[in-house]
Amino acid sequence: MGKEVGLGSDAAGALDRDVRYLRGVGPRRAEALARLDLHTVRDVVFHLPRGYEDRRHPRPIAGLRAGERAVVAGRIADVRFRYARSRRGGILEVDVEDATGLLALTWFNARQAWAARYPIGEPIRAYGTVNFYGGLQIVAPDCSVGPAQDASAERFDRILPLYPLTEGISQAAMRAIVRTALEAGAAGVVDTLPPALCRRKGLPDVRRALRDVHFPNAPAEAEAARRRLGYEELLLFQTALALRRARARQQAGVSFRVGPNVDRRIRRLFPFSFTGAQDRAISEVVADMRSPRPMNRLLQGDVGSGKTVVAVYALLAALADSRRGCQAALMAPTEILAEQHALTLQALLKSARVRTALLTGSASPAERRARLAAIARGEVDLVVGTHALIQGDVEFSNLALVVVDEQHRFGVRQRLEIRRKGPPPDVLIMTATPIPRTLALAYFADMDVSVIDEMPPGRSPVETVLCPPRDWDRAFEAARGELEQGRRVFVVYPLVEENRDLDLTSATEGYQRLRTEVFPEHPCCLLHGQMPPAHKQEVMEAFRTGGCRVMAATTVIEVGIDVPEASVMIVQHAERLGLAQLHQLRGRIGRGRFPGRCFLLADPTTEDAQARLGILTQTCDGFRIAEEDLRLRGPGQVFGTRQSGMPEFRCYDFSDPALLKEACDDAVRLVEADPDLRRPEHLRIRQTILSRYGEGLALADIG
Ligand code: ADP
Ligand code: MG
Repeated sequence: MGKEVGLGSDAAGALDRDVRYLRGVGPRRAEALARLDLHTVRDVVFHLPRGYEDRRHPRPIAGLRAGERAVVAGRIADVRFRYARSRRGGILEVDVEDATGLLALTWFNARQAWAARYPIGEPIRAYGTVNFYGGLQIVAPDCSVGPAQDASAERFDRILPLYPLTEGISQAAMRAIVRTALEAGAAGVVDTLPPALCRRKGLPDVRRALRDVHFPNAPAEAEAARRRLGYEELLLFQTALALRRARARQQAGVSFRVGPNVDRRIRRLFPFSFTGAQDRAISEVVADMRSPRPMNRLLQGDVGSGKTVVAVYALLAALADSRRGCQAALMAPTEILAEQHALTLQALLKSARVRTALLTGSASPAERRARLAAIARGEVDLVVGTHALIQGDVEFSNLALVVVDEQHRFGVRQRLEIRRKGPPPDVLIMTATPIPRTLALAYFADMDVSVIDEMPPGRSPVETVLCPPRDWDRAFEAARGELEQGRRVFVVYPLVEENRDLDLTSATEGYQRLRTEVFPEHPCCLLHGQMPPAHKQEVMEAFRTGGCRVMAATTVIEVGIDVPEASVMIVQHAERLGLAQLHQLRGRIGRGRFPGRCFLLADPTTEDAQARLGILTQTCDGFRIAEEDLRLRGPGQVFGTRQSGMPEFRCYDFSDPALLKEACDDAVRLVEADPDLRRPEHLRIRQTILSRYGEGLALADIG
């Protein structure tokens, strides 16, 4: 081992080799590459540039404007060096002259000896950001002295890739590493796409595409290459989803009886009539439940749009079909929510003879064993718990419907590891915040989607105010005013997983301050996820009934607390949270008759953060906010793809929705034409899909 990968080595094997064996990569660089999630030669080869620097065309000096990045080419007209009192070293200035004018190249902290590298009269090319300081100037340019054929000229007369970097690797180093990786491995990259398909669609083959995407001769080449690589990636994943969908459709599941009587009985349980959007979603869900094909439906809607109503309807409808003694399960993202769901359902089911079991972490082992036994024997009709509690060792006797309330964790792609006898259950998954259309198309093509795009009547949008530090007091004053009118107030402290202990401390300290200094005249309480469940329940109850008026909480409350009197929310360190999460949070207020006001206390140091949070003050449309979030942070962040088991796209960057649509359509056609991917030209697609997604998407049966 330890040998460098050279051109002569086995090409396919070379791709899977560790980056450490690449020329120019030592332990330190390998570590930096690992931070970028680049471990093998293949990873590097598919580490695409985030942009390019076009250095092909030198610009006439006279036409340059301050602020632009440009290449200049000319001759060295003068070289000056002087020591600077305030700096180490000195200042080196090299004047470059072309037919149109003069420009100074400037280096600070320079050594006198460097001047010798710039002989007067030699040709020179330089690249950098032009500024104006007594005259045109480029500080610390990238330059090449001497005739164009010089080795250093590799950096000119061409389009250079710009890579996502990390500390310890420069652009130049990354370019060299990518070049070496391409030389070592590109020959081993097999084309997954059938050549006929590429020809038909005018796509370059994969090796050509890799070369062009990294080192294009023209922008159009880079674009075609990127398109091709993105298309391939999309086609593979979309084909995997299409296979999954086709498989699911062949299965025979449960067929529920949901008639008009059941419908009437369920509707009577609610003190309001459903919105048009809820009715639409319900009829889609009911159609799925009636059909023997297992339901596989995603229910999307903005915070507060009334998704829970639809989910509850489905559960009640399933339990009303007493023919077969069906079991239903409701999986919530947190214990607090599970308990709240259980209460809601128990209240609705008062008169029905439905046996409910709540699985929580607070149950003793003996209690849990007893409940599990009852579930397995079919003595429980409805099971409510968190995902973890229901997935583990729970065995159902006749599970027919699963409702998954996902809230902000998009673990939707995770397989439902549910042990059950009998046919596959109907599955209805709710998302907390809307998923941007492009993301939904990319990730959920195997599911049917219902969208609730209408709010229940009488909602006033939450007014959102972005407060810089000087306005923080005003936020608390506004809260005091509302408290005096009998309303309730949330004060939210971000809890970020990586920083959990510190964040908990700051929430606890914040609570102490609220209680003793800020609102000593109002009862305050503290809620966070680490508290024992019984205690949490108590706190929630106190806040609901008014025994407590100010709730200091970590971000756990973003999940489904429903207190109509809560009218103000103050979010501390709002800049640390994502847009979707903040939107979800503020959905906790303004749910009753009182208009809600949300104060985002932030110290956004960057304009980016300011602009990002500003969107929340402009719109309450969760779909728009989700799109912005996607645009600003990328799908990995928005989805938490890592945690949720969603594949990350390396080549497709969501900037081209048309390409996504094309790949989706092609994938569906492909699976229709060749349902098992048995044709020789599809063999590679099949292999790649199995190795890439087989496990995550449970596609083993196409093997
Ligand atoms: P989501 O789960 O989509 O965030 P919920 O289902 O929790 O929303 O509903 C939010 C609030 O709106 C709840 O208090 C619920 O009782 C109420 N609600 C739901 N649907 C309606 C409706 N059609 N008319 C009036 N109020 C509704
Ligand atoms: Mg809900």
